[in-house]
Amino acid sequence: MTQQTAPIAIRERTVDAFTREFLRELNFGQGVDVERSSVNDRYLALARTVRHYLMTRWIETLRHQWEHQAKSVAYLSAEYLLGRQLDNALLASDLTDIARTSVESLGIDFDELRDAEIEPGLGNGGLGRLAACFVDSLATMNIPAVGYGIRYEYGIFEQTFVDGWQVEKADDWLRLGSPWEFPHPEAAVEVGFGGTTEDHEVDGEKRRRWVPAWNVLGVPYNYMVPGYENGRVNTLRLWSARATHAFDLQIFNSGDYEEAVRAQTFAENISKVLYPEDSTPQGKELRLQQQYFFVACSLRDFLDRVLLRGFDLHNLPERVTFQLNDTHPVIAVPELMRILVDERGWKWDEAWAVTQRVFAYTCHTLLPEALEVWSVELLGRLLPRHLEIIYRINEEFLEVVRTRWPDDELRLRRMSIIAEHPERAVRMAFLATVAGVKVNGVAELHSQLLRDKVLADFAELWPDKFTNVTNGITPRRFLKLANPGLSDLITEAIGDGWVTDLDRLEGLLPLADDAEFRRRFREVKAANKLRLVDMLAHRDGSTIDPDTMLDVMVKRLHEYKRQMLKLLHVISLYEQVTRGRLDIADVTPRTFAFGAKAAPGYRMAKQIIGLINAVGRTINDEPALEGRLRIVFPANYNVTLAECLIPAADLSEQISLAGKEASGTGNMKFMLNGALTIGTDDGANVEIRQLVGDDNFFLFGLDEPAVEKVVAAGYRPTSFYESIPNLRHALDLVARGTFSGGDRSVFEPIVSNLLSEDRFLVLADFQAYVDAQARVDVAYADTEGWTRSAVINVARAGFFSSDRSMRDYLDRIWHARQVATRP
Ligand SMILES: *Cc1c(COP(=O)(O)O)cnc(C)c1O
Repeated sequence: MTQQTAPIAIRERTVDAFTREFLRELNFGQGVDVERSSVNDRYLALARTVRHYLMTRWIETLRHQWEHQAKSVAYLSAEYLLGRQLDNALLASDLTDIARTSVESLGIDFDELRDAEIEPGLGNGGLGRLAACFVDSLATMNIPAVGYGIRYEYGIFEQTFVDGWQVEKADDWLRLGSPWEFPHPEAAVEVGFGGTTEDHEVDGEKRRRWVPAWNVLGVPYNYMVPGYENGRVNTLRLWSARATHAFDLQIFNSGDYEEAVRAQTFAENISKVLYPEDSTPQGKELRLQQQYFFVACSLRDFLDRVLLRGFDLHNLPERVTFQLNDTHPVIAVPELMRILVDERGWKWDEAWAVTQRVFAYTCHTLLPEALEVWSVELLGRLLPRHLEIIYRINEEFLEVVRTRWPDDELRLRRMSIIAEHPERAVRMAFLATVAGVKVNGVAELHSQLLRDKVLADFAELWPDKFTNVTNGITPRRFLKLANPGLSDLITEAIGDGWVTDLDRLEGLLPLADDAEFRRRFREVKAANKLRLVDMLAHRDGSTIDPDTMLDVMVKRLHEYKRQMLKLLHVISLYEQVTRGRLDIADVTPRTFAFGAKAAPGYRMAKQIIGLINAVGRTINDEPALEGRLRIVFPANYNVTLAECLIPAADLSEQISLAGKEASGTGNMKFMLNGALTIGTDDGANVEIRQLVGDDNFFLFGLDEPAVEKVVAAGYRPTSFYESIPNLRHALDLVARGTFSGGDRSVFEPIVSNLLSEDRFLVLADFQAYVDAQARVDVAYADTEGWTRSAVINVARAGFFSSDRSMRDYLDRIWHARQVATRP
């Protein structure tokens, strides 16, 4: 073909044209007529119709990208917690009204179709959701980018409760087909595993090579990532594992049919299921396979298909930054070295010079148990050549350390990429730090603690390598889509520029003092609560009172996040009221909402879920508390539930132990939707408080240095148990089996853990938390004052747009440029 063909465009953005496309999709895509179509037929037809409108832009973006060869960002992430796609696609293409009118003109319930979508839950929590926000912002900000990841056949498990205990169900999100993915089996990439390494000669030169024992194919599935009304559609490319033909056939020919099938299953297991551990990697072989699988596919894809043929890889740093979302993709570092040295025949130093300039690493944690390590035994067995390369990187790195600090054996051992205890293992965060152009934390406090503690030796060696980029959230999904009422109110007040320039929310500040605006703001909150009431009634049959304060804690269940702190407060209120020490009339009517999944193997977390539900059953059945105190714990917290819960919230609980939550992004979503925060001085809470001021934030608890001191002095939780009567009474209630039908053994592990270890200082912060909650009650009683604070929170939330995060990454790390696809 010599002539460029322009993509066919659906130019008509009219209800009639939309309806024609929709019917065509129903008839020819699904093979049904309107009358006989199922909800799923209709959903698929609607999704495909919207998809058509975006398709031209996608093709044009790709062509533009190809022609301009501008620097790209390749975001490598093992997780993308995307949320539903239809609404976002409608929003990005400005088709919501047309689609609704069109579908309803056929007598079809539009909202029923939206609700038919199963969200792709290809992530655990904050880290995966961050990746999803980032790809949205990259597209909206016209940054040439591609997201790489894994197309898990089963995403994060579906949580159900049986007698209040978490029971996991497989998340079969593909069972009805996904209209959003474009498989390209013809572009499959082969990835090797296992085997040995050997020397060989190429043109008289000695080289090393890897001879893998087995291979799998990576099939790319492309997903559209539409920018907000800007004509750009970026690509998210997720890899699915298939058995290679050669592999199957060999075994099949030998007559062993079962073995051939087994081999296929074995290969396909790699992308079968998302590991449900959040912040606690288990060091499982399959997980390392997943990591290498998607990273090898992605590098191959970028080098062979995104770059022009014959591109000189010495210039790679001008064409791409591979952003490593935590340590999960860090095996990309030795993989690139292997490609350059073994496959392309480069000298080691030449290859290292390029490699060191194309990777950047985002660290997401402070918990030591979350820092990923791979045993040398496993890594050497699965990726023998990569282990050799890591050893050499480490040798040369330790030479640098030795030169800088001669005779400092201790430091060498501390900084070595290879840990010696408890077993020889590769410290992936160290490898990423050595290889990366930059290392960033995800909130100011977190980045500072990385420099001062977790990676202090490295920061001393390379101070300029360390930087901060505070996380953000996309205002498209978390305000415009999730909270149409507030969006409309804001747009009416300050115009709609905020959708892509969230700092404009500052324009709302004067309106905090405008009584009429505050009244309408409350009206929106009340309507959002009614929407939530409806949703919960439908979903779990649970009822909540929309006239109470909605106090929400939704996030993964983890001891460091301290769901127990909030629960102990509720138990204490219950205890005081039922013992007659507190008049229920003096208690602010509250609905305590929880939402949290626990990793299936995390026993303490599952216990806490059991206890929240048990306490819920007890207090929700207590006549004296009717209409005053209630616990609601909808199962299966996910993006779709977040979009309904957060806009209805009055109070946002961000109560992790100071120094443990890297950033948090849930905290930002609540702020943006006009909830006030009760929180510790941790993660991005610090920045939230700086922005809204102490009058509009309920701060409590030990700060990070104080935590360090308490721990250093030898923390004794029993001293708090003994000296705070309400705390003692609350814990005793649990210990006595009040919430477990008198059986003391059921929740004994929780009680004994809090009284003996209490690693996250729940008891130490209890009184400060209760006092802060008392301040919340006082503030809430002043309706106008509360609303004023809520408006200020929204007005100051502009900083937390993920668009701003992208600008920071551009300036501090990527040095790529924004490229408009449309003049
Ligand atoms: C935002 C979000 C998270 C992260 O919440 P944190 O409070 O920051 O831990 C987790 N899960 C879902 C579904 C989210 O939308």
